Amino acid sequence: MKIVFATNNQHKLKEVRSLLPTLEIVGLNDIGCFEDIPETAETLEGNAQIKADFVSQKYGLNCFADDTGLEVTSLNNAPGVYSARYAGEPANSENNMNKLLSELENKENRTAQFRTVIALNIGTKKTLFEGVCKGSISKDKQGVKGFGYDPIFIPENHSSSFAQMSMEAKGAISHRGKAIEQLISYLNTTPIG
Ligand code: IMP
Repeated sequence: MKIVFATNNQHKLKEVRSLLPTLEIVGLNDIGCFEDIPETAETLEGNAQIKADFVSQKYGLNCFADDTGLEVTSLNNAPGVYSARYAGEPANSENNMNKLLSELENKENRTAQFRTVIALNIGTKKTLFEGVCKGSISKDKQGVKGFGYDPIFIPENHSSSFAQMSMEAKGAISHRGKAIEQLISYLNTTPIG
């Protein structure tokens, strides 16, 4: 069974392929899509749906798309839907982390959560899934694995950052892993042929 994951982020593709080994997951480049799909919505749900709709409308393929935000409690859930470009254009993880660490310098509450929304389009049927991973923002960067804010995110009940964990260990507890778990149980009970 083949399905498009509407991303060109190789880290995400690798993570999701390891979580969904029974599906043939192809990325946007694999279907000849080299466009940067505009993420113009103000919610994670809206952006995930825009990306999934773009692929199903333009290519007529079953697909899913995700959108993730890092929601920091003491910053009123910022950067949230704006996580990728928190420090401005072009998107740059080092600058984003530096900005977040400086915003939190004088804050006592460092709790945060990653939230992922997945929009699945099978034919004309649209379904949304959500996964949340609670944790906190560390005082400095730790580890070199993963991507994005991984070096400064410590998941709840852990002492190491996402960037210090193997991809499998991260996937077992992560926001994206949890959203994918729901996608899997949905696909298991609703075969797409
Ligand atoms: P996206 O819209 O799903 O690509 O996520 C927006 C931004 O959130 C990314 O550019 C990353 O900076 C960050 N992000 C998403 N997922 C993760 C993750 O698993 N770890 C760390 N940062 C992430």
